[in-house]
This record gives sequence, C-alpha cells and structure tokens, in this order.
Amino acid sequence: SGALSETDPELFGAIGEELGRQQHQIELIASENIVSRAVLEAQGSILTNKYAEGYPGRRYYGGCEFVDIAENLAIERAKKLFGCNFANVQPHSGSQANQAVFMALMQPGDTFMGMDLSAGGHLTHGKSVNQSGKWFNPVAYTVRQQDQIIDYDSLGEIAASCKPKVIIAGGSAYSRHIDFAKFREVADSVGAYLMVDMAHFAGLVAAGVFPSPIGHAHVVTTTTHKTLRGPRGGMVLTNDEELAKKIDSAVFPGLQGGPLMHVIAAKAVAFGEALQPEFKVYAQNVIDNAKALADSLMATGLNIVSGGTDSHLMLVDLQPKGVSGKATEASLERAYITCNKNGIPFDPKSANITSGVRVGTPAGTTRGFGQEEFRQIGHWIGEVVDGLSRDKKDNTATEAKVREEVLALTARFPIYNR
Ligand code: PLP
Repeated sequence: SGALSETDPELFGAIGEELGRQQHQIELIASENIVSRAVLEAQGSILTNKYAEGYPGRRYYGGCEFVDIAENLAIERAKKLFGCNFANVQPHSGSQANQAVFMALMQPGDTFMGMDLSAGGHLTHGKSVNQSGKWFNPVAYTVRQQDQIIDYDSLGEIAASCKPKVIIAGGSAYSRHIDFAKFREVADSVGAYLMVDMAHFAGLVAAGVFPSPIGHAHVVTTTTHKTLRGPRGGMVLTNDEELAKKIDSAVFPGLQGGPLMHVIAAKAVAFGEALQPEFKVYAQNVIDNAKALADSLMATGLNIVSGGTDSHLMLVDLQPKGVSGKATEASLERAYITCNKNGIPFDPKSANITSGVRVGTPAGTTRGFGQEEFRQIGHWIGEVVDGLSRDKKDNTATEAKVREEVLALTARFPIYNR
C-alpha cells in the first residue's frame, strides 16, 4: 500500500513514540504548541512536490496556478490578522526571516542593537556564534537589575553612542509588555530602523491581547509556530512600500530558493484559524493560565523573573532552592513535565547549567488546561524542585509520584485521538 508503517517501520516507530510523548507528557516549552489536524493535513500535502521560485503571479516555474492561490491566501490572511499592508510568508524559519531583514537593511560590519541573550534575547539578535554576531557588529542592551524590566534609559544612551543601523525589540524569554513607542522614539533619535521580532507573542498580538508592534516598527518578523499555532516557519511584515521590495528581494533570491509551498499552505490554514473568534478566547486563556502558573510557582517559594508575566511565558528563578536549571530540566522530564533550562538576567551560572527554567502555557492551553490545571502544574514543579533541593543525587521517588499524577491529568485532556 506504500504506507509509512510498511515501507519504513523504523521511522514510523519513532513518530509513534513521539506522538505518545506529546499525548502523555505536559508540554511547558514556551515556544511549542499543538497544531490542528487541518494544519497537519496541509503541511503533509502534495504541495511539497511543487517548485515555485518567485512570488504569486511572477514565478520562475510553470504550473504555479494553484500554489499561487495558497500563497495569496496566506498573505491576505496575514495582512488581515496583523492589520498591515505587506507580508512575505516565504521564510523557512524565524531565523531566516531575521536574516532577510538584516540583508535588506544592513551591510556586513554594520552595527545593530539587540537584547542581551541572558535578558531574554534570541540567538539571531547578535550572539557571537550566530551569523548575526559574526558578520555584523551587535551591541546589547539589557534589563534593570532591580526589577528585570528593559532598561529604556540605558537603551537610549547606548543607541546615542553606538549609532546602530537597526534596533531589535522582542526576544525569547522576556515575559513583559514591551514599550514599542519608546523603542521607536529611540530609533528615530539616531536614525535607526526599528525591527520587532514578535516570534514569541505573535499569537497574542493577532488576538489583540498583547500590544501590537505594527504602526511602531519599520519591520516586524515572526515565526508562524509558537503562540500563533501554525506550522514551523517564518514571516516578515511591514507597512513601508520601499522596505517591502527590499524584503522580497532579500528572501528570494537573496537567501532562499524554492518556497516550501506545503508549509505556506499550512500557514494559510493557521492564519485562517487565528482569525476566528475562538482564537481570541484561546489567547486570553493562555495569558490567564500563565498568571495562574506564575502565582502557584511563587507560592512554592520560587522566584519569577520580574515578579510575574504579561504573556504566555515566564522565567523561573531557581536560586531560592539552590538547584540548577540543568538539573531541574532533567528531573522534571523524568516526571513527564517538559521545559527548558534558561539563563536568568545576571545569571552567575554558565549557559549550560543556568539558574533558571523557562515555562509557558500555549501548548497546555490548546489541549484544554485551565487555571486550575496550571496551578496544579506549578505545585508539581515545586514538589520536584524541593525533592531535588533535599537530595541532589536521587529524586526518583518524587519524580515517580508526580509522573503518575501527570499521566492521570493528560489522560483527561487527550490530543490527536482517533
Ligand atoms: N526569534 C525569536 C524571538 C525566537 O524565539 C525564535 C525561536 O526560537 C526565532 C526567532 C527563530 O525561529 P526558528 O527557530 O524558526 O529559526
């Protein structure tokens, strides 16, 4: 029959095991979500066969009539969702969306500003091992020591002294609202472009429950997965016609060849879903659940960086319990709770060990967890961390107890059931 289970049982088995993991465990990785069957169907479609270099109506290949429909749907829905005039939906990932903007706005060697990685910035915002840090000259801004909120005063001072071409707002582990108007004011004061990377909170912006960068930023980049709950991919938005042309040229032929038409089709499906009224309810629940999780974690004696969250994620500061992010991530995984170790602002530990873990509510909220379930999850995290803190070598008993309770909870909120 050609079915994967018959032609490649080894690979089929790995997918089956991963399905079981997603079904049975609690996913707290803030950048992950659970896509609909419709998104999976579009992404798994025969559109993967098609070459379509170029843009709708101006392709370098024949036979693009129907994939043009798919890409135009994705573009029109993206524009409607975010209230902007232009969308390039072709970047294969969030990293490539960012690279495209760098290519459109800078020359190698040019200076730009991004948030420090330990304060919540992303690899592509100037980390030395990333192309952004190797080919350009990144200057970092950070958060205030006393409250872990972006230091807007020093942002302006750093910009005045380094005169960046581009300033990036947005990151991967910053949980608070961002003052986009203030960022634009600083960018204007030094003649820089403001780029907002809204990858993490794009779904919340789409739903109108988080401030929108459109109208403040010259250009906005995002992933289409994470809170937006689409397929893994990237996108660039702007209202500036000149920039739009430069961005199109930077994505293709600047960086990429053939667009992934099956992924673009799945983006269109996800944007269609995000335009529905149910998505607003979902996004508000994501935030309400994150606040409930933060409160219950603090009740166990853990700190939350900046004292709370305005979004879908938070950084848990483990220092009060004397355990590392690395050990906590591993112990929670054995208890069937998945998260990632993450540096916290001014972290005394290395990036491999860290003093924190990052947790988020997008995936759990999709499967139906509410505030009660997230308060329970916060309690379980507290139990695991307390167990680790008591006996650093062996936390097996607590892990096993929590794992049983996690299995009972996830069984009540099934996903991808036949
Ligand atoms: N930008 C931000 C803020 C991110 O958090 C991420 C993902 O981790 C990216 C960009 C990169 O996205 P991708 O993993 O699709 O390359």
